[in-house]
Amino acid sequence: MPVIKRRSVGLQRQAHAVFAWLALAACGVALSAFGGVDGRARAEGPPTAEEYLAHVGGDAKLIPPGKLTFDNKRALSCGQRPTVLDGQLDDFGAAYPGFLILNPKLMAKVSLPVKMWIFSHECGHQFRGPDEETADCFAVQRGRREGWLSTEGLDEVCRFISPAKGDSMHFSGVNRCDAMRKCYADPIVR
Ligand SMILES: [Zn+2]
Repeated sequence: MPVIKRRSVGLQRQAHAVFAWLALAACGVALSAFGGVDGRARAEGPPTAEEYLAHVGGDAKLIPPGKLTFDNKRALSCGQRPTVLDGQLDDFGAAYPGFLILNPKLMAKVSLPVKMWIFSHECGHQFRGPDEETADCFAVQRGRREGWLSTEGLDEVCRFISPAKGDSMHFSGVNRCDAMRKCYADPIVR
């Protein structure tokens, strides 16, 4: 099993975590080996969803692309990426290139717009890379476009992340929120 490095939403310790893009950047060779047939090179890359599942065990389960729903309401997808539900994840959400991870126990504690935002933030990493502010922006603009994030919903997201103090990867919740409000109001898709 490859060493798992992951990035998060940055919220659990404060509120949110998820990701391995840095590991990729530090190991550019692994990128080309990702999905390749060279087992040895492959072993140095990020895990597949199946490898991750096997590694965490327990009651973690794999949700195929497009099959995830929150509160029995809305199916969510992130291209062809599956989602792993892992109750042991130390944050609400996380992502490796190729799949997303959510902690269903923590997700159960937040409102629907916040759930959608967390998922979309992780999805943003899939399409826009490791930058946290970009992933935040991707999420709120997607919510605006798809109609699931109102300004009230954005207020809920802001209340959710406001206790976050920030770390090496994430700005503080207040700063993230300021940036997201600007992004939400910006008609230009970033
Ligand atoms: Zn993130």
